[in-house]
Amino acid sequence: MSDLRELYQEVIFDHNRHPRNFGRPRGANRSAHGYNPLCGDKVTIYLRVEDGVIRDAAFEGSGCAISTASASLMTEALKGKTEAEASRLFEGFHDMVTGAGAHAELGKLEVLGGVREFPMRVKCATLAWHTLSAALKGGGEPVTTE
Ligand code: ZN
Repeated sequence: MSDLRELYQEVIFDHNRHPRNFGRPRGANRSAHGYNPLCGDKVTIYLRVEDGVIRDAAFEGSGCAISTASASLMTEALKGKTEAEASRLFEGFHDMVTGAGAHAELGKLEVLGGVREFPMRVKCATLAWHTLSAALKGGGEPVTTE
């Protein structure tokens, strides 16, 4: 297991150092801001949604390694997903990081499963997802994890 954990940490470090999909994409038609006051993480999620399918996903912001890696991995996972699939992914991710038992196949997102042992870090890992949820609903209100 420790080899696996090291591998997971390496993926998280890599996504923190070199975030994927960082910046505001052209043609984004949904966005939301999120803030985690416990850690100071800030994120803005941008989406291009066409016919209920997420064609592009990106983010901007600043925060700890977990929040940045989580946003980076999330934007990679979202492309090509329908809004319903994205919601199910969020539920599965949430179940995984809160340790709420069985969760759906999450692929690469599994690298963040270790945060369940660190309750303070769960909010860092879920910030991008709560913000995604707000962007999909199109509310426009800033999201906070508190
Ligand atoms: Zn954080």
